[in-house]
Amino acid sequence: MNILLLGSGGREHALAWKLAQSPSCDKLWASPGNPGIAQEAECVALDATDHAAVTAFCRENGVDLVVVGPEAPLVDGLADSLREADVAVFGPSAAAAQLEGSKGFTKDLCARANIPTARYIRTHTLEEAWGALKRFDAPFVLKADGLAAGKGVVIAETREEAQHALAEMFDGKFGEAGAEVVIEQFMTGEEASLFALTDGETIVPFGSAQDHKRVGEGDTGPNTGGMGAYSPAPVLTPELEQRAMREIVEPTVRVLREAGTPYCGVLYAGLMLTAEGPSLIEYNVRFGDPECQVLMLRYCGDLAALMLACAQGQLGEAGTPQFVEDYAMTVVMAAEGYPDTPKKGGAINLGQAESDGSKVFHAGTALNDGALVANGGRVLNVTASGQNVTQAQRAAYAALDAIDFADGFCRRDIGWREVAREAS
Ligand code: ATP
Repeated sequence: MNILLLGSGGREHALAWKLAQSPSCDKLWASPGNPGIAQEAECVALDATDHAAVTAFCRENGVDLVVVGPEAPLVDGLADSLREADVAVFGPSAAAAQLEGSKGFTKDLCARANIPTARYIRTHTLEEAWGALKRFDAPFVLKADGLAAGKGVVIAETREEAQHALAEMFDGKFGEAGAEVVIEQFMTGEEASLFALTDGETIVPFGSAQDHKRVGEGDTGPNTGGMGAYSPAPVLTPELEQRAMREIVEPTVRVLREAGTPYCGVLYAGLMLTAEGPSLIEYNVRFGDPECQVLMLRYCGDLAALMLACAQGQLGEAGTPQFVEDYAMTVVMAAEGYPDTPKKGGAINLGQAESDGSKVFHAGTALNDGALVANGGRVLNVTASGQNVTQAQRAAYAALDAIDFADGFCRRDIGWREVAREAS
């Protein structure tokens, strides 16, 4: 089959790498892609916001399946436009993508279906929000309703801090995304990510992961898109995973189907493992980045066939996705200054980083006169596997240390919780 993959990050490089290996993939295009993706696919420049142009490309080139990497085109309804033109697409409609596009939408859906999640109040004005604050205790969790590139959540330690943050949010700090703010109860526990594929009817689990959002070691400093991840997440035991599927993912998919807006694609549930059990923090309507990189290293089936089955409503016939038993870890090499002011243009020499079976996914790279340079905040995702998290960590850092990227930095403690557990 002919496939068009949309996106340009490490997540899309991992997807391109796996799709290119799929026996059922004949031709792979990627837009816009990056230098790593260009080794797996033919890169083309399409504007994902121009639905007519994407649809025309698919028609002219006989594209059988479109795989949408990031959330913005999904929330923007690209999957709807493609389906109207009879192009199969792995990714939800705009209506179903509201699961990520509106936190208030998701909270209301959870309330309707009795899905475990933090108690919440949706607020639309500063006055309303200040009033609602009185019904919560510190720390206060404040969330801009819409897409804010992972930056729309504030956890305020004091009421004054919360009031200040709310004032900023309603003053347009997050633009339209902050026109509504959800205030919710703070939950304690360890976080884990659960992935499931669904065609709206059939649901299959697609692995688990844990990531590290903070820039600094020991999970300190500002939030980032993610500095590393590993899979599976042993803290999400098979029992907890089944419970999360039964109590959270399955009712979500059922409610959307019953509403006439069935969900198609990957559903990424961010979970808090509380003392009472798994509770939903948020949904994402696409693979996590960098979680996708570790899932792809472990997935051992024909990804193209699986995604097409999902897109065509035939997931029930595709069988259960199989993963290798090994653990995988990915460590992000970021450009100096990330996340505030990443330095662009730094020279990169990958050396022998991939010689022992490790894989270096490109996130923010570019070619400058044929030489590889940094071109974004998160630059490389160095990914390796091992029989446990400790071994996967050792392999990932050995590969990373073979890379020459003077302007780059990484956290040296990815997986620390699990490594400590394995040592005890
Ligand atoms: P992402 O970058 O994952 O897309 P986001 O901006 O969509 O994030 P959330 O995932 O909802 O926002 O929240 C970001 C982080 O804030 C969570 O990973 C979690 O650490 C923390 N958080 C969110 N909600 C709660 C809560 N109710 N209790 C405790 N911590 C929370």
